[in-house]
Amino acid sequence: MSRRKIIAGNWKMNMTPTEAKKLVAELEPLVKNDSVDVVYCVPAIDIVPVVEAVKGTNVQVGAENMYFEDKGAYTGEICAAMLVDAGVKYVILGHSERREYFKEDDALLNKKVKKAFEAGLTPILCCGETLEQREMGVTLDWIRLQIKSDLDGVPASDVAKMVIAYEPIWAIGTGKTATSDQAEEVCGAIRECIEEIYDASTAEAVRIQYGGSVNAGNAAELFGKPDIDGGLVGGASLKTDFGSIINY
Ligand code: PEP
Repeated sequence: MSRRKIIAGNWKMNMTPTEAKKLVAELEPLVKNDSVDVVYCVPAIDIVPVVEAVKGTNVQVGAENMYFEDKGAYTGEICAAMLVDAGVKYVILGHSERREYFKEDDALLNKKVKKAFEAGLTPILCCGETLEQREMGVTLDWIRLQIKSDLDGVPASDVAKMVIAYEPIWAIGTGKTATSDQAEEVCGAIRECIEEIYDASTAEAVRIQYGGSVNAGNAAELFGKPDIDGGLVGGASLKTDFGSIINY
């Protein structure tokens, strides 16, 4: 079974609605590629204009976060139903910036993953180790712990449809990319972990991205690895380079 690649841009806290519409228009001819899934994960305020701007193109829209409750007194939060109603298909959960700056832990992320599926969204669940953990030799233990905790109680049928993004924290926004062998080793270990928790067909179906300073020059090598099913791209998703990454 061959998995379809998925390449997602993570815009982070960049692009006003006006800038977002301009960027979508600029990228439109560059990101055409019917053999991969293309997603723009955008700030909440850009969702409505970007959904409108990508209509009729090959691009789908994702959110960068959501809350797990259905509605109510959670000032500043956005729920899954709001995203679905606005036309969002994917949601990034557990990005290392949210884990670090907003203290999101695995118990919270587990609730978010379940809620995303309940609402019909596809989670892009991020995991990744710090440089200190890599140097201590505990990378695979750490990633397995994150995956097992975040997916606790999530059925195989959902996991088969989701996206997991392996993003070593030391490679995010630093210009230091993991080598394709380092990235493949961890993506392969994530797939083994999914097989261990679920079964071989779920492990075969789940799409696993690499993220961390992906650019036009390294995308082809990374995405050419057997267990790497595309990328989650930060900085380079805001530039015309994203077109070269999509058409690696
Ligand atoms: C990210 O934020 O998910 C990311 C991978 O960023 P960058 O590509 O800029 O390293």
